[in-house]
Amino acid sequence: MPEAHQILISKRGARRLRAGHVWIYQSDIEDLSDASSGEVVKVVTQHKSGGSNSLGMAFYSADSQISLRLITRSDIELDKDFFKSRIQDALQFRSRLNISDSAYRVVYSEADRLPGLIIDRYGDVVVLQTQCAGSERLKSTWIDIVSELLKPRAIIEKNSTPARRLEGLEELSGVLTGSLDGPFEIIQGGLRMMVDPLAGQKTGAYLDQRENHRAAAAFACGHCLDTFCYQGGFGLSFARAGAENVTLVDQSEQALEVAKENARLNDLAIETHHANAFDFLKEQQIAGATYQVVVLDPPAFAKNRKAIQRAARGYKEINLRAMRLLEKGGVLITSSCSYHMSSEHFEAILLEAARDTGRTLQIIQRRGQSRDHPELLGVPESAYLKCYILRVL
Ligand code: SAH
Repeated sequence: MPEAHQILISKRGARRLRAGHVWIYQSDIEDLSDASSGEVVKVVTQHKSGGSNSLGMAFYSADSQISLRLITRSDIELDKDFFKSRIQDALQFRSRLNISDSAYRVVYSEADRLPGLIIDRYGDVVVLQTQCAGSERLKSTWIDIVSELLKPRAIIEKNSTPARRLEGLEELSGVLTGSLDGPFEIIQGGLRMMVDPLAGQKTGAYLDQRENHRAAAAFACGHCLDTFCYQGGFGLSFARAGAENVTLVDQSEQALEVAKENARLNDLAIETHHANAFDFLKEQQIAGATYQVVVLDPPAFAKNRKAIQRAARGYKEINLRAMRLLEKGGVLITSSCSYHMSSEHFEAILLEAARDTGRTLQIIQRRGQSRDHPELLGVPESAYLKCYILRVL
């Protein structure tokens, strides 16, 4: 293997890495040598004496604002065995979680020290996402390792995420090894669920809400409303936990079709509405409907920092409307998956909504993404999901 190219970063960049972060932005690159995009490079900073200090090895992305993503703080050669042991470590941790579902996240990118790599397992099908130039370049290595460790019936690439464009990578998805013909069944939250990684959203399911579905089900009773339901993760858990009525709302007809199929598979009764959740919530209020439980799980309203104010108005509107629909003692399960929306800001929005509706709420639980999506200490970007369980007094 040829020696890795060295990339010299600024003192400010070096401080950022030493403080625990793993990203270096373009503005902190001082000398690229001849590195090409996607290479594993050695990151160095200038020493007082004029020499250089190694800060570790990183993926280099030429097109991205995030130029370097640190993989290790050691100055070592990164071969297939190195990456295999990282994936084995990630797998071992997941097995300690005793996940009874057949679908979970095996590798969560920076948090598993494999920057820009997502590996999700759906039973005997594995879905890969390579989100940076470096993890993209190693695709065949991931395929080899995953084949050896998990022996899946198929490995799928689900790289149809717009964020790839920021890395100069095209959007594409397809079957990498084995074969897959259409949707198949998995176990999620103890329920039989259909997934279709190629046609569905994310890698097929919202695995980050897996544990929240269960936590929420503990409050199931009476009439439950699951808005932004996708394929029914929350709503079907309510139905199984004994709710009298469950109403599911989504603007994706395709998602609702799968939700209905999932209900049939589990012999559960649900009602679905193909609607914009904003309109649906408003209409329910006009109709005088009330609920014991309401779930709000919208897509990220704030995709970047600039969009925060507009996003805040959206979050406030749906939360306010949901609070109006809840009976006394009713439970609101409300999420935001926008990293740019901080917990503090989100709570302030919830409080404003509560005040405007004249209601007082208790926070029963502050939750985040499932434990198979851990946060890397020092890298706040690896925690994005907020899920609050509140009760109307
Ligand atoms: N609650 C789901 C995940 C929801 S993802 C789970 O736990 O599995 C967000 C969902 O919101 C997607 O299914 C998307 O189709 C839907 N959606 C986005 N905008 C919407 C809108 N304005 N009204 C209704 N649904 C919407």
